[in-house]
Amino acid sequence: MNIVRVALDLPLPRLFDYLAPDSDDSDVGRRVTVPFGTGLRTGVVVELATASEQPDAKLKQVTAILRDMPAMPAEWLALCEFCARYYQTPLGEVTAFALPPMLRRGKLPRIGKARITEPAGSSSAVPPAPTIELPRLLAAQQAAVTAIVDKAGFHVMLLHGVTGSGKTEVYLRAIAAVLARGGQALMLVPEIALTPQLEGRGAARFPAAQVVCANSGMGDAARARGFLEALSGRAQIVLGTRLSVFMPLPRLQMIVVDEEHDASFKQQEGLRYSARDVAIWRAHQLNIPIVLGSATPSLETFHHASSGRYQLLELPERAVAEAMPVVRIVDTRREKLQDGLSAALLAGLQLRLERGEQSLVFLNRRGYAPVLACPPCGWISRCQRCAANLVLHLADQRLRCHHCGFEARVPRACPDCGNVDLLPFGRGTQRLEAMLVERFPAARVLRIDRDSASTPKKWQALLATIHAGGADILVGTQMLAKGHDFPLLTLVGAVGADAALFAADFRAPERLFAQLMQVGGRSGRADLPGEVLIQTEYPDHPLYQALIEHDYARFAQSQLGERRIAGFPPFSFQAMLRAEARTMEQALDFLAAARKAGEVSAEGITLYDPVPMRLQRLMTLERGQLLVESLSRPALQAFLAAWMEQLYALKTPAGLRWHLDVDPLEF
Ligand code: ADP
Ligand code: ZN
Ligand code: ZN
Repeated sequence: MNIVRVALDLPLPRLFDYLAPDSDDSDVGRRVTVPFGTGLRTGVVVELATASEQPDAKLKQVTAILRDMPAMPAEWLALCEFCARYYQTPLGEVTAFALPPMLRRGKLPRIGKARITEPAGSSSAVPPAPTIELPRLLAAQQAAVTAIVDKAGFHVMLLHGVTGSGKTEVYLRAIAAVLARGGQALMLVPEIALTPQLEGRGAARFPAAQVVCANSGMGDAARARGFLEALSGRAQIVLGTRLSVFMPLPRLQMIVVDEEHDASFKQQEGLRYSARDVAIWRAHQLNIPIVLGSATPSLETFHHASSGRYQLLELPERAVAEAMPVVRIVDTRREKLQDGLSAALLAGLQLRLERGEQSLVFLNRRGYAPVLACPPCGWISRCQRCAANLVLHLADQRLRCHHCGFEARVPRACPDCGNVDLLPFGRGTQRLEAMLVERFPAARVLRIDRDSASTPKKWQALLATIHAGGADILVGTQMLAKGHDFPLLTLVGAVGADAALFAADFRAPERLFAQLMQVGGRSGRADLPGEVLIQTEYPDHPLYQALIEHDYARFAQSQLGERRIAGFPPFSFQAMLRAEARTMEQALDFLAAARKAGEVSAEGITLYDPVPMRLQRLMTLERGQLLVESLSRPALQAFLAAWMEQLYALKTPAGLRWHLDVDPLEF
C-alpha cells in the first residue's frame, strides 16, 4: 500500500496519512492536494510509508500530487523539520510558512515551463565579470576575504566593523568567489528598505549573475518566481529579509547575515524563529561557511567570538572617511532645556544650517506626545482595549494606540470634566519637528518615522529628498539608523535616550548601544567630519562612556559580566510560555497548571512564577507569561518537547490562546 505522510498547515503536531497509489520516492518534498474535513487542503509530502497507524477504512486518497515543479530538496525538508522541533511548532505550519503564499495554495506563477523544471546550465558557473572598477581592499578587508573564501566546511565567522568599515565590500568579494566556483550564496538583511540599495550594488557587481530578492513586502507572483529561480539553481544570489533563510538553494555554498544583531531577524508571531540562528543551523547541516556581520554584534554572537567558538574578523577602521565621529555627552542635569533641546545641540544645529550641512535629531518615539491629559481632574488618554496610553498625533488630530491600532479623534474637551485645556505630556517626533520648524524658520525640517514613511514608496521618496540635499534638519526614529549613507550629514543629536538605561528588559541597554552607534555612524561619512551629541542625565553611565570611545568590546564585556552574574543569556537558555484570555485570572491559572504539569520532568530546568506581561492587556485580552530557563540548551529542548505534549492536553477555557516562544527577545 502506497501511503504519503503529509504536513498540513494546522495547529496540530502531527502528520496526516493519505493513500497515493501512483506515488514514488521522487514525490517526497512535493506539494499535494488532499481532502480534509469537508474541503481540500494543500500540504507537503514529508515521507512515504507502506502502512499507517490509522485504520485502512479511514484512509482517504490524495486528490492530486502536484508535479508541476521540482520537489523540495531533502535539505529544505530537514531545515523545516529542525525548525518544527526547535521552535516546538507543527511541521505543517513550518512548511506552509517556508513556502511563498502562492505555492502554498497549490498554484504557480506565470513563468516559462523550462525555467521551472530545467536546472541552470553550466553557464552560471562562469565567474561574473564586474563592469565597475573594484576598490583596492584594505589590509583588514583582504584578510577577512581570505579567511572567508579559504574555508571549506562549516565555520562561523563574525565580521566586526563599524559602519563604513567596508563589510559589504567583503561580503561582495566573498560572494564573487562562491559564484566563481559555481555555487549559490544567500545574504540575509534586516527588515527595512535596505534591499533596493544593496540590490543595486549587487547588480552592478554581478551582471552575469542572477540576484533574487525575497521579502514579505513583495507581490505574490514575484515571490513565487524568485523561489522557483532559487530552487532551479538559476538564481545565484538570494538577497532578502528573514524569510529568505527558507529559500531552497541546491548549490548553496555560503551564507551572510548582515546586521546580525538586528531584532527583525526574530519573528514575533506564528513561527517564532530567529533567521540568524536558523541560518547557522543550515550552514552546519550543509557544512558551509557563514559570515555574521555587525558593528554592534549581539552579545550572544560576541560571546561566541570571544570564546573562540566563532572566528572573529575585525575591520578596525573606516574605508573612506578619515575618522569616526566625535561623540560628546551633554549633561542635562543642571540645564534648563528649551523644548527638550540643550543649548549645545541648538548651537550645533545652527552651525550646520550656516554651513549648509545636514543634522539629525534622533528620538525613538513617534507621534506628537505619548499621552494627552487633563491636569485638573487627572484624566489621561487610555486605550479601551489595551493597558496602554493613547498617543497624541496632532498631524491628523487623532489619538492612537501604538499596540493595537485603535484610534479616536482628539476630544475638544475632557470627557470626564469638560475642561477644554487638555495638555500633551512628553515629546514625540512630531512635536520635535513642530518645535524645530518654529525655532529655525529658514530650515527645511523633515520627519522620518513609521507615520511619515508608512509605505515603501513614501520611504523611498523621503530618502531621495535627503540624498538630493532637500532637507536641513532630519527628525527621526531608529528607522533612520540603519544602512543608509547621508553624505551631507555631520551632526546627530540623541534626545530621550536615558529611558532605555533602566528599562525592565535586560536587553534594552544592548539595543540602545546599537542604535546610538548606528545613528552616530550615519554622520560624517564623506569628507565632512561627524559629531554626535547625546543628551543625558547620566553622563557617567558606562554605556555612554563606551560610546565616546567607540569601544563596543568594552561595552559588551561589561554587559556580559552583568549577564553572567544574573544568569541571563548567553549564560542560560530561555523559553517563554505566553497565554492570553478574557481575564488575567484565566491566563495565570492556565500558566500555573502548565507549570505544575512541567515540574515533574523539570530536571535542570527552572520554571518561574506566572506573571502578567508588561503590556498586560492587548486588544481586550489579558496576557500572562511564564519563563522557563536552563543552563543547558539540550536539557531545555528535551524538556520543551515533553512539556508541549502536556500543554496540548491541558484543558483551556473558551477564548484562551497560548504559544511558546523559544529564545525570546521580548520580555
Ligand atoms: P559597511 O558595509 O561596513 O558599512 P561598505 O562596504 O558599505 O561598509 O563601505 C563603505 C563605503 O566605502 C562604500 O561607499 C564602499 O564603496 C567604500 N569602500 C569599501 N571598501 C573600500 C576600499 N577598500 N577602498 C575604497 N573604498 C571602499
Ligand atoms: Zn490598544
Ligand atoms: Zn478632566
